[in-house]
Amino acid sequence: MQVFYVVATPIGNMEDMTLRAIRILKESDLILCEDTRVTGKLRSRYEIETPTMSYHSQSKLAKVETILEMIKEGKTLALVSDAGTPTISDPGSFLVATIREHFPELHIVSIPGPSAVAGALSISGLPASDFLFLGFLPHKKGRETLFAEIVESKRTVVFYESPHRILKTLESLASKLEKGRRVVIARELTKVFEQTVSGTALEVLAYFTDTPDKVKGEFVVMVGAA
Ligand code: SAM
Repeated sequence: MQVFYVVATPIGNMEDMTLRAIRILKESDLILCEDTRVTGKLRSRYEIETPTMSYHSQSKLAKVETILEMIKEGKTLALVSDAGTPTISDPGSFLVATIREHFPELHIVSIPGPSAVAGALSISGLPASDFLFLGFLPHKKGRETLFAEIVESKRTVVFYESPHRILKTLESLASKLEKGRRVVIARELTKVFEQTVSGTALEVLAYFTDTPDKVKGEFVVMVGAA
């Protein structure tokens, strides 16, 4: 049975690699990855000798066609991203949709593992059975509409943010959210300087304004329901 695998990889701590993910990457014919250097570190750590080919957000249609051709030849391919679960704010959705369209009989199998959204929610203390995930907020167009949606949301809202924009985002939240709303930041999950900061938007903003050395790394922002 031919399979196309979508494989989750660590979001920081290299030990967060499942036994199944290692085996599947070893057994596949080719690993499609965002950056061959990033995936190269994982390959050497786990002695995975499978060759890699890049597939990223800038990949052209010709690359997709090459991949479809390899599937047609019967090859077992595995898709990974630089970190976490492919397609979650990462490339891969278009590729998976195209593969589904061309090979409706092919088994597309998830090898689950880390994702920053799940890790962050699990330690937030916010209700996480039902949440709204926004990925990265747009920089300009649509940003205000999304903030309005966050303010109104009856569900926990989760989104990803870069260190360059986190203060600006917290300022927006502090100016728009009702006073009682809880904001939780999960920073550098699974890494040496992993940190969670929880409070009102104003308190969290004050914390990061007062400790600028913490305004770096990777951030997940979570906002409690209205
Ligand atoms: N596919 C990934 C996943 O499953 O989580 C997300 C990739 S997205 C390009 C990268 C963003 O995810 C970062 O900017 C940050 O917002 C979030 N992220 C990834 N790793 C993280 C970590 N270790 N701690 C906190 N946030 C993280």
